[in-house]
Amino acid sequence: MKTCILVLGASGQIGTELTQKLRFLYGNTQVIASDIRKGNTQMMTSGPFEIIDATDKASILKVVQQYNVTQVYLLAAMLSATAENHPQKAWNLNMNSLLAVLDLAKEKHIQQIYWPSSIAVFGPTTPKQNTPQKTVMEPTTVYGISKVSGEFWCNYYHKKYGVDVRSLRYPGIISWKTKPGGGTTDYAVDIYFKAMEEKKYQCFLSENTRLPMMYMDDAVNATIALMQADADTIKIRNGYNLSAMDFTPKEIAQEIQKHIPEFEITYQPDFRQKIADSWPSSIDDSQARKDWNWQHQFDLESMTKIIIQQIKKL
Ligand code: NAD
Repeated sequence: MKTCILVLGASGQIGTELTQKLRFLYGNTQVIASDIRKGNTQMMTSGPFEIIDATDKASILKVVQQYNVTQVYLLAAMLSATAENHPQKAWNLNMNSLLAVLDLAKEKHIQQIYWPSSIAVFGPTTPKQNTPQKTVMEPTTVYGISKVSGEFWCNYYHKKYGVDVRSLRYPGIISWKTKPGGGTTDYAVDIYFKAMEEKKYQCFLSENTRLPMMYMDDAVNATIALMQADADTIKIRNGYNLSAMDFTPKEIAQEIQKHIPEFEITYQPDFRQKIADSWPSSIDDSQARKDWNWQHQFDLESMTKIIIQQIKKL
């Protein structure tokens, strides 16, 4: 059957860019974007769009059958900072959407699933530097609990029912096209916009908080590479560690100052500091590099150059 992809939660930070790349690769009519809210103009005009609540299995099935969908990318979720304020809602959205999609694959309505995990599966008891693929996972956030549970469900459905589900533990994803949706690493997007517009930024994390990060293009490419890899090369069915760079607020500010010398950063840590402190500062992703040849392209310097150029054009 011809590949036909349904993206759930397509109007968010990652979905907006991933959907366009999938449409470029598979054809506009073969990639159905969906969300509970409309996407940007490019998404709404370049291919099919459906309003779908990702927790509603019957609505997903209807669209799957209508378009002969073969793969689902499930991006709908409540992110780390927002989830701390809405624990029950976060759990319901993050778990029920995943279980709905896993069941559709178990029932053979779809052939393949992509579901993102996160570095939030780790917690304060995890080794902080070069966090290994297999290690202690004792998250202290609602979001992390939902991601670690989701990983176990993915592994279970693969082992028990042969479901072809694939997952990456994204670090903080940095982009300039769509604003992020309530995560702890959002500062690394906001800082560029504030640097350009106001020449100053007040950061909600402290200056030496080191976190793993990735430019959007690398995240999109990793996702598609994982989904296109031969099934027998995929050795990890809960979630692959994935890494490109790590930096602190102070380091990103210094990189921006190379382009905007008058830029100033101040620090006013809030509740997100505690979340950040519980996460790794760098990730060992050697298993992804070995199994399906993952390679990142962007570091802090090259990413900063591109983002500043692009924001200037907006
Ligand atoms: P986002 O918040 O920007 O987008 C999520 C989208 O889901 C939104 O457009 C929202 O309208 C939609 N949504 C919410 N409830 C829905 C529902 N019931 N049904 C359908 N859609 C619904 O998030 P994102 O940054 O694009 O993240 C996508 C995925 O990647 C999530 O699973 C997230 O946990 C994961 N992730 C993101 C990052 C990051 O830095 N952005 C890092 C690690 C993991």
